[in-house]
Amino acid sequence: MKNTLIIILLFSFNSNAHNHQAQATYLGNEGIMIVEGGYKILFDPFFHNGYNNYQLVPDDIRHAIFNNKPPYDAIDAIFISHAHGDHFAADDMLKFLDTHPNTKLIAPNQAIMRLKVLKGSGKIMNQTTAIKLNYGDKEQTINFDGLHIEVVRIPHAGWPGRAQVENLVFRVTLNNTVTVMHMGDADPNESHFTPHKKHWKNKRTTTAFPPYWFFTSEDGQIILDEHLNVESSVGIHVPIKIPASLEMTGKKYFSKPSETINLVGSLKEN
Ligand SMILES: [Zn+2]
Repeated sequence: MKNTLIIILLFSFNSNAHNHQAQATYLGNEGIMIVEGGYKILFDPFFHNGYNNYQLVPDDIRHAIFNNKPPYDAIDAIFISHAHGDHFAADDMLKFLDTHPNTKLIAPNQAIMRLKVLKGSGKIMNQTTAIKLNYGDKEQTINFDGLHIEVVRIPHAGWPGRAQVENLVFRVTLNNTVTVMHMGDADPNESHFTPHKKHWKNKRTTTAFPPYWFFTSEDGQIILDEHLNVESSVGIHVPIKIPASLEMTGKKYFSKPSETINLVGSLKEN
């Protein structure tokens, strides 16, 4: 109890100290909201399937996102890592984009194709950007007002199985201030990352959100520590029953929806 109080005090002190604090809020599984200087983005926010293992986005958060309830209002862009059932639901995406015409969607072509076949999707297609990258392709760059987006295709975990899954690693700089990396279900094998050496080197990432298996595999640790050029990492895709192997690493991870961290604050912790 005493510890909890101290943490709460530190947190509020921290957020008062900067009037412009970048934050990450956990939604569920690999769903995250990033807020910085009036810009707000979501990663993998809508999905229906937790496969009885992963955290779904709780109904109150889903409802708030769909109904513009702060802090989940005014979303500038949504990013999808890949079109699996624990990351993406085309029906929800269509519903959201249709009622939020100012929100953009950046997603692998496989996800965009799922949207396209839905009735009524014609009117939202101009809000979407389909990423068509093959394994080994050069990184792609997209610029929106206040958002600098770079994307690489890194295979889904289980390589060389599931090679056809278009899994994307996004690096997004918001407001020219803070840079986050969302890795989807990336495979923790150095050989996927070394060909993009220059890309990782040319920008420091404030906080990366790797799937937790990067913390529990040796290669994953090496990728985070030596390749990706990241200040700090927070694990996601953590099973509801927290694996003992993850706890043993002592690494920071998200497991409770609505938990919010200061991105610069988390820098200081590591
Ligand atoms: Zn997954």
